[in-house]
This record gives sequence, C-alpha cells and structure tokens, in this order.
Amino acid sequence: MKKILILGGTGDAVKLATKLVAIPKIAVISSLAGRTKKPSALVGQVRIGGFGGAEGLANYLQENSIDILIDATHPCAGQITNNGAIASQVANIPHLMLVRPEWGKVAGDNWIEVESIAAAVKAIPEGIERIFITSGRQQLEPFLERSHIYPNIWYLMRSIDPPDLELPNSKVILDRGPFSLERERQLLRDYQIHAIVSKNSGGDATYAKIIAARELGIPIIMVQRPAMPEGDKVTSITDAIAWLQQF
Ligand code: NAP
Repeated sequence: MKKILILGGTGDAVKLATKLVAIPKIAVISSLAGRTKKPSALVGQVRIGGFGGAEGLANYLQENSIDILIDATHPCAGQITNNGAIASQVANIPHLMLVRPEWGKVAGDNWIEVESIAAAVKAIPEGIERIFITSGRQQLEPFLERSHIYPNIWYLMRSIDPPDLELPNSKVILDRGPFSLERERQLLRDYQIHAIVSKNSGGDATYAKIIAARELGIPIIMVQRPAMPEGDKVTSITDAIAWLQQF
C-alpha cells in the first residue's frame, strides 16, 4: 500500500484524488488550506489547515508515513509549493508537481504582464475606471489604496467566498468556475468593464474571460506565476498517474 498526500485546493487536485482512489494499493489523503468555506467534494481522506511551514509539513509526512507527495495546488500558490519541495527532501520521499500549462498570449490579446497583484494595480492605465477583479478575494489592499487615489474607480469582484475587505464602489459576485464564454461576454458587456485583473492560472475552467476580453478588445492585467522549485513536474493528471507507475 502506498500512501499519497495530495496538496490540493484546485479542480485538478479533486480530479487526481478521484482517479487515484480507484487504483488498488493506493491510499489518498488530500490536504486543503481551509480558505474556502464549502470546498468541492473530495473522495478519500481529507485534512484541512496549514502544517506550520516546511518543517511542519516534513513532520506531517514522517509522522503519517506518507510515501509520495503530489503538489496539485494552484500555480500561484508559491509558498506551499516551496514548502512541499523542501519537506519532501527532508522526509526523503518522491515529490511531484502537477502544474497546468500557462495561458499564452494569442493574436488580439492585449495583456499587461506583471509580477504581483500590487504591480497589477499600479499598471492599471489612467482613465480605466471599471475593473473586473478575478485574481481572488485575498490581496485586495492595493485595490483599496487605488480607490483612495482615484475615487471614480469601480470594481466588479468575483470570488467563491465573500472577501474580508470591502472595496468602496464595488459589486461582489459569488461564483465558482467553470464559466462559459456566453456568460463572460455578457458580464463584461453588462458591467461595461474597461479592464480585467487576472492571474495566469492556466486551464480551461476560467479561460472564457480571456477569449471574451479578446473579442471585446478589453485589456487584461495578467499576474505572472511565481518561480517554481526544481523537481519533477507534469502538466496533466494522466502524466501524474504515469509518473506514479515507477513506485
Ligand atoms: P500559499 O500562499 O502558497 O500558502 C500559504 C500557506 O497556506 C502555506 O504556507 C500553508 O500554511 C497553507 N497552505 C496552502 N495550501 C495548502 C494546502 N493545500 N494544504 C495545507 N496548507 C496549505 O497559498 P495560497 O495562494 O494562499 O493558496 C491557498 C490554497 O488555495 C492552496 O491550496 C491553493 O491550491 C488554493 N488556491 C489558490 C489560488 C491562488 O491564486 N493563489 C487560486 C485557487 C486556489 P503552512 O505554512 O502553515 O503549512
């Protein structure tokens, strides 16, 4: 029996757990940070909450006799990914990162590429006043600061759970992907959006907004992913399962 810990919090992690529990001689534990009030249903064992840094994660791996660590977290969750790389080395167990391919710019895309949310907010061109925030409900402070400087700015914010910080002049839509192209087009039109702030999440579930923005000529301020640690990486669930065959 091989005990696999999946670092999750993504649709890919849910799909991977579902595939792995169906394989004989594999026991799966999925780990969630606990950010979402009602996380997507998961098969197999689930644990929730931080580990206490890389050291805490290494202790968890050892105390629970984990044989293999698979990091299927969001590509922008840089801290837990670094912790996973360090902890698996300390615990001396195999470690895989499941990383969806990035979205690439195609003809007609108008992207302003930046390194962080704070940089994204600084990069919003002057005169752009109706902004669609799709980069999550955390890290809203830079948007709030911009509101103080440009009081005419209006934000549409979409997240799974309500944000802790309320932006003045804003509307919150609580929703979880996948989002259809028709809906994204409609939403950009209905709210007369001037620009979108997005992370380069990759994958299909939230790509429709990129297409809709291209069609409507709306710029996207695209937050790049953090650098990944060295180590084994795959881009699909099929490849993750193939990688496991060696153990
Ligand atoms: P992060 O900045 O990389 O991690 C911050 C801390 O949260 C980690 O040091 C760890 O705490 C804890 N943590 C994160 N993921 C965890 C997991 N799967 N299991 C247990 N603890 C975890 O992460 P984040 O960007 O806040 O993302 C948190 C979670 O949301 C991740 O699971 C990620 O997959 C998911 N998510 C993130 C984004 C995004 O844009 N960042 C988007 C969609 C989903 P300790 O140090 O105490 O262990």
